[in-house]
Amino acid sequence: MSYKNFPMVPRVIFGRGSFNQLSEIISPKRLNVNAPFIFLVDDVFKGNAWLTSRIPLAYDDKVIYISAKEEPKTSQVDSLVEDIILTSRQGTSGIIGIGGGTLLDLAKAVAIMLTNEGEAKDYQGWDLVKNPAIYHVGIPTISGTGAEVSRTTVLTGPEMKLGINSDFTPFDQVILDPELTKGVPKNQWFYTGMDCYIHCIESLTGSYLNSFSQSYGDISLQLCKEIFLGDMSETEAQDKLMMASWHGGMSIAYSQVGVAHAMSYGLSYLLGIKHGIGNCIVFDHLEEFYPEGVALFKTMKKKHHIELPKGICANLDYSEFDVMINISLSLEPLWENALGKNWKKTITREKLKHLYQKM
Ligand code: NAD
Ligand code: ZN
Repeated sequence: MSYKNFPMVPRVIFGRGSFNQLSEIISPKRLNVNAPFIFLVDDVFKGNAWLTSRIPLAYDDKVIYISAKEEPKTSQVDSLVEDIILTSRQGTSGIIGIGGGTLLDLAKAVAIMLTNEGEAKDYQGWDLVKNPAIYHVGIPTISGTGAEVSRTTVLTGPEMKLGINSDFTPFDQVILDPELTKGVPKNQWFYTGMDCYIHCIESLTGSYLNSFSQSYGDISLQLCKEIFLGDMSETEAQDKLMMASWHGGMSIAYSQVGVAHAMSYGLSYLLGIKHGIGNCIVFDHLEEFYPEGVALFKTMKKKHHIELPKGICANLDYSEFDVMINISLSLEPLWENALGKNWKKTITREKLKHLYQKM
């Protein structure tokens, strides 16, 4: 038995308004005046002076606004890296990602690809990255994915939606400022928040569970229950969801996710359905695997008046179902975590098709 030696985010700052300290945090990391910091910022903040006026630009530092409408692609990472190399010939001091899981993953991937040859797609998988990434900082503006703590950056490539999982992926620094999440639309708050809740359920009921994962999962699940079923002020909910996301991410770091993630990756690859809402659409139909978790999910959905899309697979043909089923079944560790070593006895292609047809 060999245990995973897991890298963690070495520095984190937490607090409302901690974003104001960005300058003092990154300044010592500047390599030289010709090596800029590149800020990758969700374009939802374009023209939002409350946030952008506090991005500490000096010398040749640059802000690149990026839409989070679509999830990150390997080709998008490659072209960002190319642009950055062309405009900063004397090197880059660091990459700072400001946004949700989409921007955080882009920041991690760009930081890796600035020091590793070839294309991002070559590194999708486990432990393929050879050289340490450049200094990278994650600043979440919506909570739930755990991307701020994780050892992966999930990218859609030409063949697969798969993460670059490596010891060089985690951020060198994370800034947790719950105030940055104040503008998140209600539905999106729910979808991304439920990503966290689903991480907890999948981790805590999985066959890979151990005390490390359980300790983080228990805390995260407790916070999710308070946030989504209890009553508290908006600011308290923002603070708590940010910590729930962190703990949820830590919980799956040392275990795995499960059925909802395995199936929503299929939806995402074929139909471009985003992670948060995709997980919700799938999880809603998984009573069979997670009876208590799904019952509570339905209660939360009702309390917050969330209507999930229906009939998204209604007009698909058999080859399209095949694509989704192939992607889903290829995620073997997720199935094994959810159902144990003999998962292939219960999970057949027919079974998955039947489940997708309900969505
Ligand atoms: P997201 O980053 O896609 O953002 C969702 C929406 O919220 C976007 O429209 C965005 O513009 C908006 N938004 C973000 N912050 C806002 C704010 N403060 N005010 C107003 N609008 C705001 O959403 P997400 O759910 O955080 O991330 C999903 C992505 O994360 C997927 O690509 C998924 O693959 C990835 N992911 C990664 C990991 C990991 O460990 N690396 C884990 C889970 C998910
Ligand atoms: Zn997730």
